[in-house]
Amino acid sequence: MKDDMSLGERLASIVGSSNVLIEDVVKERYSRDALGPHRGYWQDWAKITKPEAVVRPKTTSQVSAVVRLCAAEHRAIIPWGGGSGLMGGAVPIERGIVVDLRGMNQILAVKEDDRMAVVEAGVVLKDLEAQLNKKGLMLGHDPWSLPVATVGGAIATNGLGYLGARYGSMGEQVLGLVAVLPNGQIITIRAVPKTSTGPNLKELFVGSEGCFGIVTEATLKVFPIPEERLFCAVEFNSFEQGFKAIQSLYVLGLKPALLDFGERDVSFLPPEVRALLHFEQTAPTLYIAFEGIQGEVDIQKNRANEICFRYEGRELSDQKAQEFWETRHEAGDRYLEARERGEVSAWPNLPPHIKLDFVHVSISPSEVLGYRRACQEITTKHGVNIWEFGLWNRPELFSVVMFAQGGTEEEALAKMTQAVDEVLTKAQALGGSMEYCHGIGLRLAHLMERELGEGLDVLKKIKRALDPEDIMNPGKMGL
Ligand SMILES: Cc1cc2nc3c(=O)[nH]c(=O)nc-3n(C[C@H](O)[C@H](O)[C@H](O)COP(=O)(O)OP(=O)(O)OC[C@H]3O[C@@H](n4cnc5c(N)ncnc54)[C@H](O)[C@@H]3O)c2cc1C
Repeated sequence: MKDDMSLGERLASIVGSSNVLIEDVVKERYSRDALGPHRGYWQDWAKITKPEAVVRPKTTSQVSAVVRLCAAEHRAIIPWGGGSGLMGGAVPIERGIVVDLRGMNQILAVKEDDRMAVVEAGVVLKDLEAQLNKKGLMLGHDPWSLPVATVGGAIATNGLGYLGARYGSMGEQVLGLVAVLPNGQIITIRAVPKTSTGPNLKELFVGSEGCFGIVTEATLKVFPIPEERLFCAVEFNSFEQGFKAIQSLYVLGLKPALLDFGERDVSFLPPEVRALLHFEQTAPTLYIAFEGIQGEVDIQKNRANEICFRYEGRELSDQKAQEFWETRHEAGDRYLEARERGEVSAWPNLPPHIKLDFVHVSISPSEVLGYRRACQEITTKHGVNIWEFGLWNRPELFSVVMFAQGGTEEEALAKMTQAVDEVLTKAQALGGSMEYCHGIGLRLAHLMERELGEGLDVLKKIKRALDPEDIMNPGKMGL
């Protein structure tokens, strides 16, 4: 490269000029992921900036060359998948280059006998699912955001989907991967189902939100499409009864593929907000599915029904259960459409004095009901309403969706921020974790030390060893 070339020209010499984007409107688009302004306050909100350029590499060697160049030029690198992250992980807060991986969207191999898929990191989950289905296989990771999230982004956030109860999180499906380290070095972690050759280095990239390197390729465990899948929808008189039924299912050893339990009270939402949200008033309702071998599935479903009836559950129509399943990606589709219209939030544009936020904590099952009561007390104290409580995948994965309204934006923001932080720190105080599927990004960075304690120091040391100049997605995850 000639010495007098600009950074843009240098990047173009690696990925081609059509894959270096510097138009202001494009850079603006890459300065927001799905962390919208309707959420509570997050640290570094004011620092969010546009990238200097967006590059779209096509190969691992191009990613490596881009990283080497950025390291030499002291530029931050921000890996970008589908941009559907809800925590601000993919937005720049320092002068830097966004590396959009979606040009690396090849499905390199589907090994039917090995039940493995080798894919580039930028493959959109929905596209992978469609290809696997043609061969009688399925991905297993099935988040709401299937139509937009990429394999790399799902690994980097260790996402969880509707079928996580049976197939685990995205990270659990990773057998091996290829990644580019902050110095440009390419590391290949071989794809084996089990190894005992030291700590498994793939864990360095699972849930690490692009702070330790860029994943460019992954080998994933995939699954045969089950012979049978049976759904069931059951309504309960109270959250407590539904929760006890779910606990009993697990104590018995039943293994649902899908478990989604929630109650929703939207009665207090102003009509204009209700119209925007697509959510209805819902009594405590459990959607549950069993899948696998015929016969086994019927037995599991019948036993689950027996247990639910014992807790006064009322079975809803098959159509209701089927509808839940068929509409499960609608929020992801809506998000994509909104983004195409130029909106930045995962949820619709709300007036600034209205805030909506959500938490997804992981706590022991024995703490769930007490924690739910504590959430009610905390939010009431701060003048915030809860419009949804839920459990996803397992009895210990608990979510709360909150609504705050103020005379001014500042007022609403202050209430929501205090309520969310207190709800999260309460989960931590009970020995739990403040987030089970969306990662940390910018939104939760201020609570990382509280959660990891000295562990955060260890992570910072690893980060410094791999990335002494702190160029790889700086400022994220509290690192
Ligand atoms: C409507 C909606 C519904 C959602 N539902 C779910 C859900 O059900 N379950 C769930 O888990 N999440 C859900 N999410 C959140 C989001 O879709 C997930 O976090 C998803 O895994 C992010 O993937 P992405 O490709 O969009 O990543 P991005 O948002 O682009 O990036 C996320 C993080 O990963 C890093 N990253 C991206 N690609 C790479 C790479 N190749 N190498 C290293 N780092 C990388 C980024 O720098 C960033 O820190 C939802 C989001 C929306 C908007």
